[in-house]
Amino acid sequence: MEKTSKSVKSGTDKKVAAKPVKPNSDAAQGLRELFVDSLKDIYWAEKALTKAIPKMIKNTTSEELIEALTMHLEETKQQIERLEEVFAAVGEKVQAKKCDAMEGLLKEAEDIIESTVIGVVRDAGIIAAAQKVEHYEIATYGTLCSFAKILGEEEAASLLEETLDEEKAADITLSEISNSINIDAAEEA
Ligand code: FE
Ligand code: ZN
Ligand code: FE
Ligand code: FE
Repeated sequence: MEKTSKSVKSGTDKKVAAKPVKPNSDAAQGLRELFVDSLKDIYWAEKALTKAIPKMIKNTTSEELIEALTMHLEETKQQIERLEEVFAAVGEKVQAKKCDAMEGLLKEAEDIIESTVIGVVRDAGIIAAAQKVEHYEIATYGTLCSFAKILGEEEAASLLEETLDEEKAADITLSEISNSINIDAAEEA
């Protein structure tokens, strides 16, 4: 054991930050606050998606993909309303807090669009970007669901689970569509 830590030390001269990060003045003290902060984060993210998905649709050529994205845009609008119900169910006021992760994922989606020509290759890129978004949402709603259950917020938990199921279904649909699009894209140029 000692030998291992010694060899790691001698292997690098760079010091890594060893101290815990100093919390903000409004940092969460308990799981409930962390839960509410995460709700605000995903509320911002869903709202950002209602602006980003139409841009993805405009850049898509596959009818199947256009249909799937259009359907998920409508679901996303309902998810925003559902989150408002969650805020109400836990007695918190509706509030959005910028989600750095979603901002980054949507920036990457724009980069993918700009770096591809319109057609099957761009379609394949849009599916890749959209699935990264769905996976972020699945992780977030999965965590929120588990927090809500532990906090005894049953109504919130079941609302969050409904959205979690929609995100999982959207991801599966995108995977299915990607099967044919990726084959076509592989044949390009
Ligand atoms: Fe969503
Ligand atoms: Zn976030
Ligand atoms: Fe995040
Ligand atoms: Fe989604």
